[in-house]
Amino acid sequence: MNIFIMGAPGSGKGTFSSRIKEEFDLNHISTGDIFRANIAGGTELGMQAKAYTEKGLLVPDEITNNMVKEYLSQLSDKKNGYLLDGYPRTLDQAKAFEKMTEGTDLMVDEIVVMDVPFDELTRRITGRRSCKHCGEIYNIYSKPPVKEGICDKCGSELSQRKDDNEESLKTRLEEYAKNTEPVIAYYEEKGMVKRIDATAGIEEIWPVLKEALSK
Ligand code: ADP
Ligand code: ZN
Repeated sequence: MNIFIMGAPGSGKGTFSSRIKEEFDLNHISTGDIFRANIAGGTELGMQAKAYTEKGLLVPDEITNNMVKEYLSQLSDKKNGYLLDGYPRTLDQAKAFEKMTEGTDLMVDEIVVMDVPFDELTRRITGRRSCKHCGEIYNIYSKPPVKEGICDKCGSELSQRKDDNEESLKTRLEEYAKNTEPVIAYYEEKGMVKRIDATAGIEEIWPVLKEALSK
């Protein structure tokens, strides 16, 4: 099972991805996470991506496509497939990915879109905190940690993403509307899209999502 999970910033892609990958034993590939890890590690790729991600702009397609290609070619254990999170985000990426995977077992079979109304997204993003150590995601409004600023799971300090401020968020939402919504429309025409109403709480959404993917 090869899945793309799509949705605006704050739609819950990251949170649900970690559940989906465990439930279905998939390789989780988050392009945002790979960029952030490269930026933190000061790699060449990280240096190329940094200025874009911090402003909320998309990293150029060529850089992103090459990174995904490289990543896929190095997957040693294919598990039950992959969950690609945050890619493709432009029509050019979607087409490049099709070329890359055509005729292989890496072709995508399903696209899940997490739907959340616009004003809810802002609250989620500006309240988001995450644990760099174990990856757990919190929200100071809706899912606060027991002890402020500390991860419940591993006790590490929580941090806020550099691009989770109002200005970068505005750019990210604009990028999404301009570049990524056409990608969803493209797959919708092919009848590959499952839309999930992701407005409710995590525990209400999860069974619906799981059921949709089990069919
Ligand atoms: P979001 O919460 O906004 O969906 P991600 O963690 O998926 O964010 O990505 C963070 C940033 O990484 C994006 O704003 C963008 O700069 C960069 N990025 C991630 N995936 C892609 C992609 N497929 N194409 C271009 N840029 C990307
Ligand atoms: Zn932690």
